[in-house]
Formats: sequence, C-alpha cells, structure tokens
Amino acid sequence: MKLLPLALLLTGCANSEVFHGDLAFTQEERAAIETGATVASECWGEPRIEIVWDGQINGEGNRIVKAVPTIPFANGQYWNYKHRDIIWIHPRLFISGVYMVFAHEVGHYYGHGHHAGPGFLGDRDMYECSAEDRALYNQGQ
Ligand SMILES: [Zn+2]
Repeated sequence: MKLLPLALLLTGCANSEVFHGDLAFTQEERAAIETGATVASECWGEPRIEIVWDGQINGEGNRIVKAVPTIPFANGQYWNYKHRDIIWIHPRLFISGVYMVFAHEVGHYYGHGHHAGPGFLGDRDMYECSAEDRALYNQGQ
C-alpha cells in the first residue's frame, strides 16, 4: 500500500522541467525568481522548476521573459504554447512584485487556478503561500 505514493513522487520528480531565463532580468530579479520557484514548489508539493540563465528565450523550450504580458494590465502571464511553457514578468515590477508574480504564474504552471482568499493565487495578500493555496493542492485542482 505504500508503493503508490512513492511511484507518484518519482513520476513527479521526472517531470521537473528546465526554463530558459531572460538575461534582461537583473541579478536581484533573478534571485527573486529563484526564491519564487523554490517557495512555489514547496507550496504545492511539485517538482521545482530549473532555471538556466542563458538568454535562450527565442528558440525551442520553456522560458521566462521580462516583457509586457499580452494580457492587458497583467503583471505576469503563464502560457503553454505548442508544449512550451512561457512565463512573462512585467518589466516594471518592484522586486517583491517579481517574486509574488512569478510564484503566482508557477502556480498556474502547476495547473492551479485562482481563489478568493489570501495567498499566491488569491485576490489579496499575495506574498506567501496560504492555507487556501495549499487547499488547491489538496483538492488536486
Ligand atoms: Zn493568475
């Protein structure tokens, strides 16, 4: 009976993916994004994404870009396009915003939607993983 969770865990680890990072991000912004990746992974119990800061954001593969999202007025955006995962971070965010928005978008990458409470995917107090965020994981959404 204990083999099933282990099998799921191993499957999850195998899905850890690499994202190419935009060199337009400052060192401070990259650190905020790396922290956001770690915290989002811990929040939702998913494999932490790997980020390679090589600026390869125009070819194949997943990417994190410092650019204005295509959705009007959005601070960030997640989009899966032709099996590529793309996360936009608006260029005019403060460091705390880069961290918060990145964790939010990684939540979408993990397959979660928004909720009305506090937390990364909530409508308010979006700077930390909340019970409401964790409930998304528990519900398997
Ligand atoms: Zn969102």
